[in-house]
Amino acid sequence: MAKTVIYKFGGASVKDATAVRNLADILRNRLRKNLIIVISAMGKTTNAIEGLISAKLEQKDFYQNSTILKSYHLGICQELFPENHSIFPKVENLFIQLNHDLELPLSQSNYDEFYDRVICYGELLATHIVMEFLCSIDLLVVWKDARELIQTDSAFRFAKVNWELTKKKCQNQLLPILEQFPVVTQGFIGSDSKGRTTTLGREGSDFTAAILASSLNASSVTIWKDVPGILNADPKRFPDTYLFDELEYRQAAEMTYYGASVIHPKTIKPLANLNIPLFVKSFLNPEAAGTKIFGEAKSHQIPTIILKENQVLVSFKVKDFTFIEEHHIHQVYDQLQQLKLRVNMLQTSAITISIVIDAQLFKLEQLLKRLKDQFEIRYNEGLELLTILHPNEKVIEKQLEGFESLLEQSTRTTFQIVRRAKQA
Ligand code: ASP
Ligand code: MG
Repeated sequence: MAKTVIYKFGGASVKDATAVRNLADILRNRLRKNLIIVISAMGKTTNAIEGLISAKLEQKDFYQNSTILKSYHLGICQELFPENHSIFPKVENLFIQLNHDLELPLSQSNYDEFYDRVICYGELLATHIVMEFLCSIDLLVVWKDARELIQTDSAFRFAKVNWELTKKKCQNQLLPILEQFPVVTQGFIGSDSKGRTTTLGREGSDFTAAILASSLNASSVTIWKDVPGILNADPKRFPDTYLFDELEYRQAAEMTYYGASVIHPKTIKPLANLNIPLFVKSFLNPEAAGTKIFGEAKSHQIPTIILKENQVLVSFKVKDFTFIEEHHIHQVYDQLQQLKLRVNMLQTSAITISIVIDAQLFKLEQLLKRLKDQFEIRYNEGLELLTILHPNEKVIEKQLEGFESLLEQSTRTTFQIVRRAKQA
């Protein structure tokens, strides 16, 4: 049997009817058996559902915004389908279920589980709409619920994959279908051993593509994006970007580690392990080669700029007149691990440990509460963490203009700064 090929389409590639038609055009000449199409929620749907959850949490009315989200999906359907198509009651039904789930009890203690239970509707809606549209124009595809394939633990919102079980499920449930039809499935979502919906972390659909690829030993993965491939800086924020035609797994992984959002950080490893090439291509220019990430790619030294927004700098100062020792670092890291907070940057001095983390609802409060007896804690929110790989002085200087630096670190190959725009 021919090897499986995986395509992943993110939110921007299905954000409106024109985008869905464009996706269909891309598939028209490429559709074949043994193709899996992984799709995430349309446009900014996941953010919108997060908004519904926040409204619910603050005991505000979420119905109005849920109706707006429904109109958005129905509006796309109106442009794609005839009036009497079965997609309309389908979308209505999914919103009845979503509203029903939003009525369930929610508190800080079940927040993560509740979140996964309702956030998955974005992916369910998108895959139903795309599957029905493809079938309606004679591109026959089969819809598959990713929760029957991606088996995870119960760490809601940041679930860990059970690779063995997932592989079994993919081989048993997907291969027989793939022998006859391409399959459309959701990114980002999975389920735990009790069948409860879990998610792999925001923007996790790329990772889903890699999990499926690894489970089926696929021949390649292609991520279709609104950028021409992997660039040395975000073209929406920096002028004069350079497109990598190829990248080695390690260099691509390093970029995602520092926050390059073009691919999800967990995507590379499963592919590198099996030497499965990853293509990042533009859905606006599908014939262009894009970037190929693979093991034998040439490595490069081009300055690469990565910006992470919404960062918090927290410093822990010892209270007694001791100096920072290993056990202090352990104390801090223990709590970070329990709260599933990743450290984006760490610096220690004689009496303080400084860490930089992503801003996350509730997490900072909890961290402060847990460590306030041991340390005097200060923090700064609303910061940016800028990383330059293969830096040179000119590039660094340019990035400091107009910003105040709160923390800096540099090695021969990496320069990092936590910065905030200077007040005028
Ligand atoms: N829809 C999810 C998100 O926006 C997953 C993804 O886009 O990959 O985070
Ligand atoms: Mg998304």
